[in-house]
Amino acid sequence: MEIERFLEQALGQEVLGIVVPGTHPDTWDSLALLRASHPQHIEIAVGIHPEVLPEIPEERLSDALMGLEKSAVELGAVAIGECGLDGHTAKCFGIRIEHQLQVLSHHLEVATRLGLPLIVHVLGAHGAALAFFESQKAIKVPLIIHAFNGPKELIPRWLRLGAFFGIGPSITWSKARRPQESARALPLNRILIETDAPWTWVEGNPQRSGEPKEARLVLNALASLRGIEAKELEKCTTRNTLLAFSKGFESIRATMARQALSSEPLKN
Ligand SMILES: [Zn+2]
Repeated sequence: MEIERFLEQALGQEVLGIVVPGTHPDTWDSLALLRASHPQHIEIAVGIHPEVLPEIPEERLSDALMGLEKSAVELGAVAIGECGLDGHTAKCFGIRIEHQLQVLSHHLEVATRLGLPLIVHVLGAHGAALAFFESQKAIKVPLIIHAFNGPKELIPRWLRLGAFFGIGPSITWSKARRPQESARALPLNRILIETDAPWTWVEGNPQRSGEPKEARLVLNALASLRGIEAKELEKCTTRNTLLAFSKGFESIRATMARQALSSEPLKN
C-alpha cells in the first residue's frame, strides 16, 4: 500500500511523527482510520480548508460546522484545522473573505473549547487574518500558521498572538526569496517543519509529490539557510512540535523523556 511506503520512507529519514490535517468533512473518518492504523507515528486534525468551500453545499457546511467539535473529540484529533483564509478562493470562486471568516471563527471557537491548537491556512490574506485574530479578546490556544509565506515584517504581529510557523518546501525553491527571507527571520523556538503536500514539493522532485520523507529535505534546507547544524535545528523543531501539539504523540514523548533521563548526569 502506498501509505505504508510513504511512512516507511519517512521513518527512514527519521521523521518521528506526522500530523495530517483535515480539509473536507467527507474525509475526516478516513483520517481517523489512518491514525488508527499507525498510532505511533500519525496524528490527525479535523477542519474545513477554505479551498474546499466552493465544493460544499450550504447545508452540508452548516452540518459539518455543527458537528466539528463532536468529530474532533470522537476521532481523537490533536488539532483543529486546517482552516483559514484564501485570497485565491475569494477571487476565483467568489467565496467572500467575510464568509471564510465566519467559518474560521467557528473553528477557533471549537479549538478554544477543546484546548487544541488551530492549524491556520493564510494565502494572500495576511492582513485580514491578522485583523481577525487581533480582534479577539484573547487567543488561548496555539495558532499554527502553516506553510508560512507572509512577509517578514508581519512576523512580530503573529508572534504577539503566540503563533508557531510551519515551514514547508517553498524555501527550497531557488527563486522563492520571500519564504526564505521569512524563514531566516523567525525565532527558532516557533518553527515547525511540514511538507504542505500535495500543494508543494521540494525543488527538483520530478514526481512533485510532496511525500512525508521530504520533511527531512525541508529541515536540511532551513538549517543551511540559517547557518546552523541540521541536528540542532531538529532538536528545536521536535521540541516545538510537541509544545504546539500538546496532545498525542505519546510514544514519541515517552522516548524523548527516556532519552532526557538517560542523558542527565548521575547525582549522588
Ligand atoms: Zn494550506
